Amino acid sequence: MEKKTIRIYKEDDVEIELTQIIKQLNETSEYLTFVKGKSKLSIETETLTHRKSLEDLESIQSNESTDNLLTLFITNKPYDDNYFFHGIKNHRKERIFLLSLAHWDSYTTYSKNTGVFYFIVDILALGLDETNDRHDKDKTTKCIYNFMQKKSEIEDGIKSATICDSCQERIMDEEDETKSKILNDIILLLEELKKSNSYNDIVEYWSLSSNEQVKLFFSYAHEDREYLNEFKDYVKIFERNGLVEQWDDNELVVGEKWDSKIKDKIYSADIVIFLLSASSLASDYIYNHELKVAFELNEMDEVYVIPIIIKDCLWDMTEFSEFQILPLDGKAVNSWRLKEEAWTSVARGLKKAIDNIIVAKQENIKSAEDIEVEDKIFFDTNKILFDDKQDLTETSKYKIVLKFLKTYSRWWFNIPRIINWGSERNGFSELKKFTNDELKKILQELEKENKVQSKKSSKSNNLLYRAV
Ligand SMILES: [Zn+2]
Repeated sequence: MEKKTIRIYKEDDVEIELTQIIKQLNETSEYLTFVKGKSKLSIETETLTHRKSLEDLESIQSNESTDNLLTLFITNKPYDDNYFFHGIKNHRKERIFLLSLAHWDSYTTYSKNTGVFYFIVDILALGLDETNDRHDKDKTTKCIYNFMQKKSEIEDGIKSATICDSCQERIMDEEDETKSKILNDIILLLEELKKSNSYNDIVEYWSLSSNEQVKLFFSYAHEDREYLNEFKDYVKIFERNGLVEQWDDNELVVGEKWDSKIKDKIYSADIVIFLLSASSLASDYIYNHELKVAFELNEMDEVYVIPIIIKDCLWDMTEFSEFQILPLDGKAVNSWRLKEEAWTSVARGLKKAIDNIIVAKQENIKSAEDIEVEDKIFFDTNKILFDDKQDLTETSKYKIVLKFLKTYSRWWFNIPRIINWGSERNGFSELKKFTNDELKKILQELEKENKVQSKKSSKSNNLLYRAV
């Protein structure tokens, strides 16, 4: 069945992250498709007049629309009457809406991003039930059709983010498949809105929740490639649920050197998985590089090193014996009567490690909000040479590093880990701009100030740092 498109335009001065909003709308919906309008939206008049303003915009819409379900124009300009939005139908019976975010802050503490997400769902809901409009008989249902009689009700509408059973029943139409599919999407979108409720900005919520994704790095001998492929079918479920992001070296040419690309990947991983066989144990490459880094990571924080025994080998006579191995009883995957049982057992073991890491990250996200770093220059920065091309001031560089280490204060970090893993944490993307040397100087200075402590890694001799 053909999908329905919702096309969205905004004026330049509307401070919302429309690309992010559209991306999430599309990820959440199963039927509807949301797109950003290509033409530029610019409204000439200072004040909007319901029908007149919409008719002016019809030409923009007809330039590029093909069977849109609806078109939405977003502006900061106020209406001459008291509404957030107005809609009309064009000659093709498509609905056009104009949404005004004027004086938004006086009606709610939620951000405009959250507001736009809510309005889109609200407008879709109204479109499904044009005859009944809002029902205000029973406010206790907290239904989306209860709200918006007054502008101040926007806050309640966003907070409850629900559609009551009787409205669902009324709207559900077995005959009209399109209607039922849109209703289903509305329910999914409201659930998404509800999950974001404790944040005033829904885009901030998305960025925090995407940080919970666990990164997997696979290390294996090329001879064992088929085992990796088999296992990935099990990991796929975790990937689809948004729990993990996986990476292995199949993009690299065999024999290619241990390069910075692999190094960065392994330093940003949360779980490093080794597929063990006689071949992988014999690989100098794996032993000298990947294993060394994995050990160092394991010493620093809650990175999990998970050896999976795929074929019988002498793993117990190597460093891998220090780790919890999978399958749990140490019986190699290829010696199980049914390989599927072996992989299922391995996948369940991996899931436990993923859950532990997600919990640890969430705990840290909560505390990160409370951490303040004093706003002063800690020391004489003149003696430290920085790359002047960067747009960060020296003071802010120290503050970012210190704030990062304080946020994740129970873990040790080496320099590449701060740059690669740290820069992927919410609020710390600037860490990617640091060079190794620069970061080293900052850490040394912070240590002199007793704000940071260091120790030598017993595995690699590299220095590891932690906030005091
Ligand atoms: Zn209702």
